[in-house]
Amino acid sequence: MEIAALDLEGVLVPEIWIDFAAKTGIEALKATTRDIPDYDVLMRQRLDLLNQHGLGLPDIQAVISTMKPLEGAPEFVDWLRERFQVVILSDTFYEFSQPLMAQLGFPTLFCHRLVADDNGMIVDYKLRQKDPKRESVKAFHKLNFRVIASGDSYNDTTMLSEADAGILFRAPENVISEFPQYPAVTAYEELKNQFIQASNRDLTL
Ligand SMILES: [Mg+2]
Repeated sequence: MEIAALDLEGVLVPEIWIDFAAKTGIEALKATTRDIPDYDVLMRQRLDLLNQHGLGLPDIQAVISTMKPLEGAPEFVDWLRERFQVVILSDTFYEFSQPLMAQLGFPTLFCHRLVADDNGMIVDYKLRQKDPKRESVKAFHKLNFRVIASGDSYNDTTMLSEADAGILFRAPENVISEFPQYPAVTAYEELKNQFIQASNRDLTL
């Protein structure tokens, strides 16, 4: 039995914080771990900015519901679900991803959680565990699943290394050159082919 483990942002949907910053015009929300390497400092800044702008969860979800998955992503997920058990392993938050997941037909998603107060303002965030993508693949192995994983960035590389096969999708040049052991593709048709090649079953397009 085989599981297809997919990253979410950059693979199926746009970078949610960056798109959200563009849609709301809050420039400072464009900061990522490249600008502020300490994830906790970055998240506290994001939550402060949301509060300063009076944006609670319902407002945020309203903005996110205007976003669309990447072109071809829903069809790709449908294709994959006919051939693999698909699980999305993401560092996003359930409350953020909900409007986009609806457009993908709610595939299984393992990610993190935001904590809101009675007025919908986000007061905290809860990471499910440390190195969750790698830990998920390890757990699937314990359940006797073979795992083929695909992602676009540094936070996917432990998942790719733990998996039986790893594929980079639309990864930046520095990630591709630092991890030459993984095939790197940019179109969903190529990604389908990579999954077929990595499978131990006789699959067709
Ligand atoms: Mg990503």
